[in-house]
Amino acid sequence: MKQRNAYQTKQTAEILQYLESIPNKHVTVSEICTALKDKDISIGTTTVYRHLEKLAADGLVTRYVVNGSSSAYFEYTHPSVNSYYHFQCEKCHRLMHIPASSVNSDGSGFSIDPMKTVLYGICDDCAKKEGKK
Ligand SMILES: [Zn+2]
Ligand SMILES: [Zn+2]
Repeated sequence: MKQRNAYQTKQTAEILQYLESIPNKHVTVSEICTALKDKDISIGTTTVYRHLEKLAADGLVTRYVVNGSSSAYFEYTHPSVNSYYHFQCEKCHRLMHIPASSVNSDGSGFSIDPMKTVLYGICDDCAKKEGKK
């Protein structure tokens, strides 16, 4: 008897579980593969990517492509996702979340889609490092 579906569901669950354990991080497919390998789960990059595409289609996972980066980032779709903006540091290239409320609104009436917006700048850590020089 073929157990293909059950097997695939298990892999999907493992991937989702991993992403759920790091709710505010953004990982690439190869990083996910490495993390799964650490748990003795061996899934090929292509397969992981296929599972992720499905999870993204189901809205469980969010997929991001950041300018200047060739690989897509994936993250667990957190419930408060719409109250965060993505911020990428131009020095260390970390992608992180900043609360939407910290972004000034001038009351222009425009509503920005946080899921499609990436802000660029220098993160706190890098700013500190620069200051220490
Ligand atoms: Zn930085
Ligand atoms: Zn994110």
